Amino acid sequence: MKQISTFGSSSYQISDLQLLRNSDDDAAVARLLANCPIMQLEAEEAVTEASRARLYILLRGALSVANDTRTGMADGTISKILPGESVGEQSVLDEETNLSSITALERSEVLVVEADLVWQLIDESNVLARNLLRLLSFRIRAANAQLRRRQKLGEFYRQLSMIDGLTGLYNRAWLNDLLPTMVATAHGSNAPLALIMIDLDHFKKFNDSHGHLAGDEALRSAAQVLSGALRPTDFAVRYGGEEMMVLLPDTNGKVALAVAERLCERMRQAEVFDGVRAGGVRQPLPHITASLGVAILQPQQSEHDLIQAADAALYRAKELGRNQVAA
Ligand code: GH3
Ligand code: MG
Ligand code: MG
Repeated sequence: MKQISTFGSSSYQISDLQLLRNSDDDAAVARLLANCPIMQLEAEEAVTEASRARLYILLRGALSVANDTRTGMADGTISKILPGESVGEQSVLDEETNLSSITALERSEVLVVEADLVWQLIDESNVLARNLLRLLSFRIRAANAQLRRRQKLGEFYRQLSMIDGLTGLYNRAWLNDLLPTMVATAHGSNAPLALIMIDLDHFKKFNDSHGHLAGDEALRSAAQVLSGALRPTDFAVRYGGEEMMVLLPDTNGKVALAVAERLCERMRQAEVFDGVRAGGVRQPLPHITASLGVAILQPQQSEHDLIQAADAALYRAKELGRNQVAA
């Protein structure tokens, strides 16, 4: 970085500097800036002493600013500074170290304004204060928008991580997150909470006979049966492998049993097709059946107790010959 002239002896105008545009008295501002050095940077050359609180105004060329303090977020963002634009004003204002590393993208000329002079300009010409306010307000807006985008993205991925990829049902992570709350709510409000545990019958054999991909199709059909048969307030979860679970808030034992019977029946009826074959003909496969265990949350029971009770009921349904409901 070498000094090639001063602002006063160069041909640059106040109108070349965004932060100083629209002043009432360009001549006065130009006088204040007259001795500020203009430095030249070669392509890929970094601004030395970039951490000092100074204002850099680009006159020609292009700069890259990494870990940009312009958005107030040291997060690896890289932005490009074009002629007329500036960098470092925030560190001048708050006297914090400028965390940005500034590099020239091509041969560039930069006007360097020391912090003291920036303050003098603010005192003597309100144009800088006005433009700075506008600039900072714009940056706050941009930073907020970025924050919101990130929050949304974070929420999107959080939700994605709660959904089972094969079936589209909620997964175990969702259950671990939500079931304790549902149990606490049920206890707190004295409302019943029903849990139905569902396990496909002889599914290992189904896989062995028809292949794992056909098994996946059967799992999808089973999941569709569940999500298609439930009220909006109910939840279907893939608990693991070929085990699924349905949570029915505000539902007593009698209703839960009826729901389980309906699910069992629809499971029996559900069509399962092989994956798409050459020629687009999908082969129908044998129907699947499931065994279901129903449990109602009892006073003092934890979520683990509730799952265990449904599991025990499911075991009874299997023992009694599968393809049926037990409580
Ligand atoms: P039971 O009637 O006693 O439940 O017998 P089962 O064969 O269904 O029980 P078991 O637990 O022995 O076998 C479960 C099978 O489910 C084994 C496994 O290959 C299959 N399975 C688990 N997850 C998946 C999956 O994501 N896709 C496929 N295709 N099969 C799966
Ligand atoms: Mg099974
Ligand atoms: Mg199983």
